[in-house]
Amino acid sequence: MKIIVQKFGGTSVSSKERRSLVIEKVSEAIQDGFLPVVVVSAMGRKGDPYATDTLLSLIDMDFKNQNLQASDLLMGCGEIISTVVMSNDLNRKSIDAVPLLGGQAGIITDNNFSNASVLRVDTNNLIKILNSGKIPVVAGFQGLSEDGFLTTLGRGGSDVTASLLGSALNAERVEIYTDVDGIMTADPRVVKNAALIEEISYTEVFQFADQGAKVIHPRAVEIAARANIPLLVKNTLNNCKGTLINNVGNKKSTNIIDGITQIDNRIQIKFSTLTNENNLNYYNILDILAENKISIDLINVFPSESIFTIDKSDFSKFYNIVKSLDLNYTYEEDCSKISLIGNRMAGKPGVMAKIIKTLRKEKIDVLQTADSHETIWCLVKTNLVNNAINALHSEFCCNS
Ligand code: ADP
Ligand code: MG
Repeated sequence: MKIIVQKFGGTSVSSKERRSLVIEKVSEAIQDGFLPVVVVSAMGRKGDPYATDTLLSLIDMDFKNQNLQASDLLMGCGEIISTVVMSNDLNRKSIDAVPLLGGQAGIITDNNFSNASVLRVDTNNLIKILNSGKIPVVAGFQGLSEDGFLTTLGRGGSDVTASLLGSALNAERVEIYTDVDGIMTADPRVVKNAALIEEISYTEVFQFADQGAKVIHPRAVEIAARANIPLLVKNTLNNCKGTLINNVGNKKSTNIIDGITQIDNRIQIKFSTLTNENNLNYYNILDILAENKISIDLINVFPSESIFTIDKSDFSKFYNIVKSLDLNYTYEEDCSKISLIGNRMAGKPGVMAKIIKTLRKEKIDVLQTADSHETIWCLVKTNLVNNAINALHSEFCCNS
């Protein structure tokens, strides 16, 4: 059995016209001799009637936060609607399709509602359906807890469903269809002349995804990498070749930087030693934040001060903890973390200097930096981040 998994995102299933393009992709796979397993997201984006955010707006925020099991049930509805509508459209074109919940497709999770971890994938139903010559159309983003409750896998979770099924079925490849041509050198909404990356390694694209490029979910990359199943990110709306993700990556490119991403809503926190030195809590602050599950990054500890960033959504928790410990700090709101990613920068001198020089030329202050062998990070004010990314993109990514 030559199986491929084809996942279609929200914009790909949002209208009848778009779904007719989905049918073309599924038909092509069948003609090429594959048995496709289709995974679908909820139709459209916020504001569209059956999009997940629209469904969520039907219930109160407090109810949602206090009843995660109920809100998972609601959040799963968008994909359930998609799977039935998509199956109907496929059947109209004489492709025998069977709509399935995530649980019916065998995705069994723990009961960590809203961000469940997958315990196992039982492929029996899928194999039976494939053997009967039918196409399973699976509701993405959801699973079933062992005690029978619908769970969701976290935002962007349909990509995770696709990789999970690809891995469990030992598929030839997993195709992720979306509204852009593939993985680009930057978000095409930010950089108009962003270029398509034709081949990239799992590790680099994981870094892209983890650092804000929402085109693919980082867990989906991890799962495919572990099973060594190629991922192909493609545009539903055209026949562009797309981006192939495997463990080889792009051997041809000589660019030091493959691409640039951003994460907004960061707050930079500074604790000075001078104003806290008589408070023992100062020396344990990183542990205390970790114990309270506040994730921090861009951490610089100096004799005179400690600096790091947190997500805006953690700020009120941070505020209460630090107040109770009687610590003094200053903070800078509305920051964005830019990541420049590329596995050819290791050991190349002068990359950071060139980044700083490029941003200085644009009169953009760099609030903090950090680097690893594959990524350089810079923190800038959010109102300057688009300028910064465009300037860095023309400096580093435009000569491939
Ligand atoms: P889907 O609904 O198909 O899952 P998403 O909205 O989750 O689609 O992801 C696609 C979007 O990701 C694109 O519309 C694009 O704006 C954004 N994006 C961010 N960074 C990148 C990048 N480096 N390459 C391609 N797309 C990107
Ligand atoms: Mg997505």
